[in-house]
Amino acid sequence: MFGPPVALVSLGLSLIIQPNSFGANQHQMIIDRIEQRAASGWVVPTPEFTDYLYPRLTLDIAGTEWVLLNKTRPLNPIDFAPTNLRAMDSSASLDNSRELRLSLPAASALEEMAAAMFADGAGQTFVNSAYRTYEYQGELFVQKIEQYGEQEALLRSAKPGHSEHQTGLAVDVSVPAQGCAIMQCFGDTVGGMWIAENSWRFGYIVRYEEGTSDITGFTYEPWHLRFIGKPLAKMYHESGMNTLEDFWGLPAAPSYPELMTPSTND
Ligand SMILES: [Zn+2]
Repeated sequence: MFGPPVALVSLGLSLIIQPNSFGANQHQMIIDRIEQRAASGWVVPTPEFTDYLYPRLTLDIAGTEWVLLNKTRPLNPIDFAPTNLRAMDSSASLDNSRELRLSLPAASALEEMAAAMFADGAGQTFVNSAYRTYEYQGELFVQKIEQYGEQEALLRSAKPGHSEHQTGLAVDVSVPAQGCAIMQCFGDTVGGMWIAENSWRFGYIVRYEEGTSDITGFTYEPWHLRFIGKPLAKMYHESGMNTLEDFWGLPAAPSYPELMTPSTND
């Protein structure tokens, strides 16, 4: 009944019991959360379940690499802001001339990925969008409302607190020399195909794959990459699954709970 492969079990536990993997504060938060649940009558699971549930609890915690948000899972707190942001370095392989920021591991991984992609002759990566604050996401959303009305705005922009960009772990990229920047045809360019095939090796996944909007709530976005760390990205890749929701055995989130809204852009 559970989506993740069996191997995830040992991975999850090993990450949880190493405070450095998440930082001491996050580790303590996980322990606190488990204790809260136990105090509220939550039945402590069997060891097999424990191995699985412990990592799964981290999916709720803003600031972990595994945090999973979608239209039914906003960030908590909703105005969460990461504390470990840095601007990626521009180079021959990566154009970050707008000095956009990601959380530290995601920033390093993007530099590493762009270097490998460039070395393979797949082009220079341009950073179109990276970390967005809660406030900025709100501004974007209001702009879309003014431009298109609320219903249409919901189709074109994530609500604040619901965008992966607010985690500092999501980035929109393009290869300007190959065209199709922030368009679905990016997936058919040399750079777009290289990313689809190789990004997992650097801890990134294409979060909104073609044909998955009924589950993720977002249309196909070959340019939107989500950092989940190398160990998990490798397992996700090897699982053959196409959404994090399926991978973790979580319900589909095609729309915001209060509205029956089709897929949008993030
Ligand atoms: Zn995006």
